Amino acid sequence: MKIIDAHCDSILDVLHGQRHLGDKRHNGQADFTSLREAGVRLQFFAVFIESAYKPAKAVLRALEGIEVFHGELERNAHLVTLVKSKEDLKRLSEDQRLGGLLAVEGGEALGGQLSMVSTLYRLGVRSIGLTWNQGNDLADGVGVGEKHQGLTKFGEEVVKEMNRLGMLVDLAHIAEKGFWDVLEVSESPVIVTHANCQALCPHPRNLNDEQLNALAAQGGCVGITFVPDFIDAVNPSIDRLVDHIDYAVQIMGIDHVGLGSDFDGMDTRTPGLETASDLPKLVAELLQRGYSEEDVNKLAWGNWYRILNECLPKEN
Ligand SMILES: [Zn+2]
Repeated sequence: MKIIDAHCDSILDVLHGQRHLGDKRHNGQADFTSLREAGVRLQFFAVFIESAYKPAKAVLRALEGIEVFHGELERNAHLVTLVKSKEDLKRLSEDQRLGGLLAVEGGEALGGQLSMVSTLYRLGVRSIGLTWNQGNDLADGVGVGEKHQGLTKFGEEVVKEMNRLGMLVDLAHIAEKGFWDVLEVSESPVIVTHANCQALCPHPRNLNDEQLNALAAQGGCVGITFVPDFIDAVNPSIDRLVDHIDYAVQIMGIDHVGLGSDFDGMDTRTPGLETASDLPKLVAELLQRGYSEEDVNKLAWGNWYRILNECLPKEN
């Protein structure tokens, strides 16, 4: 089964000097080879900006993460290829290598400057998560709590510029007001790369039924994530993860749900889904639950593919 995974933080391990993503021996959750061998044809690689760098050094830290990823691409050109356009996406089917989509997690990377959207685009970035858990000059994140603000004027300009260039607007981590604001503003489908269903697990990072519903109506997609705390506070498991997929499909329909593992971005691991090599177990579980091959193909691959094919620029 072909898989697109909409979120991982594996770049952090490289940034921290712990390993290279072409190495197979490591204590992390994913690398270029294990992802590809598990069926992943396209992996979103997020550049995460640690809180200590925000806000003053956020731009530099983001650029450092981007540089590190380009280094990994060069070092491992036999294993991975950067995906920046519809053309690249199409080529993936014949390419034996893993596709990598470069994402930035946190609008702090823009330094409050609209032209930075285009700069990041030129560096190959094709997805920006507008916020992490904190607030920034685009919007507030879920960590701000009840009294949060929605999308700022600058945030609105950023969304429009991203639409124009062909970058995916990622609303994982954004606080609810901003979520609703972006759905109004964005002319392209928006995505939530890694979050689950609040109805099954009331974590602030998970989406409520209204959000799931509206995301589907807008044409977007949610990436169901493997983070234990977002699956079940007591007993996270593959089985319980599939409950989240079932629930999201029930609310959104089969065309708006995908995967967003968050490999190498979680402190604990879900039993049975510890590393990328366990992905086939999830596919098997979906088939066992009664999803047809066609439906599993949509969940694992097709829905993200459709949105990428809609949003990305035609060619590089
Ligand atoms: Zn995240």
